[in-house]
Amino acid sequence: SKAKLFDEKADVKTSFKDVAGLEGAKEEVQEIVDFLRTPDKYTALGGKIPKGALLVGPPGTGKTLLARAVAGEAKVPFFSLSGSDFVEMFVGVGASRVRDLFKQAKEKAPSIIFIDEIDAIGRARGKNNFSGSNDERENTLNQLLTEMDGFGTNSNVIVIAATNRADVLDKALMRAGRFDRQIYVDLPDVRERKEIFEVHLRPIKTDDSLDLDFLAKQTPGFSGADIANVCNEAALIAARNEKKAVDKQDFLDAVDRIVGGLEKKNKIIT
Ligand code: ATP
Repeated sequence: SKAKLFDEKADVKTSFKDVAGLEGAKEEVQEIVDFLRTPDKYTALGGKIPKGALLVGPPGTGKTLLARAVAGEAKVPFFSLSGSDFVEMFVGVGASRVRDLFKQAKEKAPSIIFIDEIDAIGRARGKNNFSGSNDERENTLNQLLTEMDGFGTNSNVIVIAATNRADVLDKALMRAGRFDRQIYVDLPDVRERKEIFEVHLRPIKTDDSLDLDFLAKQTPGFSGADIANVCNEAALIAARNEKKAVDKQDFLDAVDRIVGGLEKKNKIIT
């Protein structure tokens, strides 16, 4: 069977309302929304619209969510692929996939291309070059650089990439006219964790015992993805116990469970 080359979503429903906290990052990507909506306004005085932005931050902090929200707010199609899909790919496939992606995105412009885990293709070239698959990765990276240089500044395609390892990226990616804007997406502080809880509690039936300030304080180091997990887990725990609504204890049990999972994950890494 023929694997899908990349995902295309024409009608993205995600908006900035779905992204809690991240005020600074949201302000920066708002600019991209404006460029996509009214490009002529920005090029009127001879300025060039940026082609790429790099979202940098730990896993689960909302980078993908934010990129989707840009597409949703600008009402443009969202083309996405993940760098990790390119690992172990047959010779020539990676580069042609990148070529196809840009071709489609240009046809549907204004549009967004999102490349998750760009470090998987964008690692500095010429290092750890022991196996053939690295050559293919380099071909893919070179094709990406070629595409970004090739499309004009008025093509109305903006490429957003995400990574949690900006330090390993090939410097060529960060050069002017490529991913020259870097936007940091950090782990949430206590106030932001409360806001993320609020977003993920929207669909959940809770009772009066719930104390969001307390929960936010109980979850230092949690990412947005971890908090989304807590809310879902709490609802399942309450349901298993035949409760009519999710209460404070269910949330605390869910937090314990997620902490347990995080500790296990860290043990495997170290
Ligand atoms: P990775 O680096 O692992 O790809 P990411 O930074 O792209 O992670 P997302 O995939 O955007 O993270 O986040 C996963 C999920 O966690 C989101 O779909 C959302 O449910 C929740 N989430 C993360 N951050 C936030 C946030 N700031 N506000 C609301 N929800 C969030």
